[in-house]
Amino acid sequence: MTTTSQLAEAGSDFYRRGWVLGTSGNFSAIETHWPLRIAITLSGASKGELREADFLIVDQAGRVEGGKGRPSAETALHLAIYETMPRAAAVLHTHSIWSTLLSERHGDEGKLVIQGYEMLKGLEGVSTHEHVEAVPILANSQNYVELSRDVRGVLAEFPDAHGFLLRRHGLYTWGADVAQARRHVEIFEFLFEAVGRSASLSI
Ligand SMILES: [Zn+2]
Repeated sequence: MTTTSQLAEAGSDFYRRGWVLGTSGNFSAIETHWPLRIAITLSGASKGELREADFLIVDQAGRVEGGKGRPSAETALHLAIYETMPRAAAVLHTHSIWSTLLSERHGDEGKLVIQGYEMLKGLEGVSTHEHVEAVPILANSQNYVELSRDVRGVLAEFPDAHGFLLRRHGLYTWGADVAQARRHVEIFEFLFEAVGRSASLSI
């Protein structure tokens, strides 16, 4: 299975779960490391029914191979993650209800801290529910060049992070391959919902 068909399969699953409604979210995976070339979803593509033609190849500077088509507006953020997190080979970005709500609720603190949940063990390298996962929260912006600088800064500050939130916007997470990145989305979405519902139930 090619990486783009794995991304397409993840997209249809996420769409059904309500994490990439409309044409929201974007996905990418490394095609070649040297030089860095990534496959990334086309701007405006519905993530529920991605086809091969909905992906573009982009280089380290964000230039589209072949010069045709417009990549996702958030391409600069994907590139910032690949540059800063050496183990990342796939990046998945979703817009779920719980990530949107929690990023606002904890936005002023600059991070969401999650601990004590068994499901934390689904994050790569985590072996105990006692793990403390700090998910940085960045202010949202439509200036993706500036935002990509903020992403580099926050990932240097949180080198062990498995993902970050953009305030009132959504989640970015990554993995050593598409399967691992997809697992991280599922784990984070479970944790966000657990944290969010606990807060609403005051438990
Ligand atoms: Zn987005």
